[in-house]
Amino acid sequence: MKAQIAFSPSFSYFFYPSKEEMTPLNFPLQRLTSVKDGVEALGVPHTEVGEILVNGISVDFNYLLKDRDKACILPFSPPVDVTKATLLRPVPLERPSFVVDINVARLGSLLRLMGLDTVYNHAWRDKDIAAISKDEGRIVITRDRSLLKRKIITYGRLIREERPWAQLFEVIKFYNLKSWLFPFSRCSFCNETLRPVQKEDVLDRLEPLTRLFYNEFTECPKCGKVYWSGSHKQRIKERILVMLEKSQQLKAEDDYTSDNIF
Ligand SMILES: [Zn+2]
Repeated sequence: MKAQIAFSPSFSYFFYPSKEEMTPLNFPLQRLTSVKDGVEALGVPHTEVGEILVNGISVDFNYLLKDRDKACILPFSPPVDVTKATLLRPVPLERPSFVVDINVARLGSLLRLMGLDTVYNHAWRDKDIAAISKDEGRIVITRDRSLLKRKIITYGRLIREERPWAQLFEVIKFYNLKSWLFPFSRCSFCNETLRPVQKEDVLDRLEPLTRLFYNEFTECPKCGKVYWSGSHKQRIKERILVMLEKSQQLKAEDDYTSDNIF
């Protein structure tokens, strides 16, 4: 008994050598196997799958493969809206928020810099990250395929890019987060929402030049870090604008399908 599982070419990232065209793979059925188990046994985490067709009919992850079934595994078609239910993920999220692992910790800081609710702790193990994702309805962001194969994770994304700013662009594009961005509204260390603070209340925490040249400040209520609008903020703003303009151009050119975003 065997089923055939065919992956869309978008999944070539998961196979070595990477292929332009994917041929259907034979999958022996020695016991009851869900299509989700079959997909993961072949190396693709379930979080990367957008739709599954078996013999041309859309099914959920629990579908049990039968002899001579032909399963077609399709990717997401970005942008992905996690607040909408789908057959594979019937319980949507209230909003996009994230938990990141140690391999993308710098991306985590950038997500918080953009005002996106993102938690991270270097002491968390894979099982902790999976539990937080489930309990708090957070999307797991990682470069670790095995983490994303954990059963209790519903929403997750394997990051393809290597550099943190490119990774940030990748996440914003994939989930279309532009309307969720509030740069400089969160502490980039502990994820707390910053609050405006009077200069006289933070004078003792400012360097002499900062004290001299800046007048508007925000403060993290958790760790006490003080933020101000300096030249670094201007540079970051310019970088964000370039990133968003680039994403706009991609959309305008209709060059934005799941097969060519990476
Ligand atoms: Zn803080």
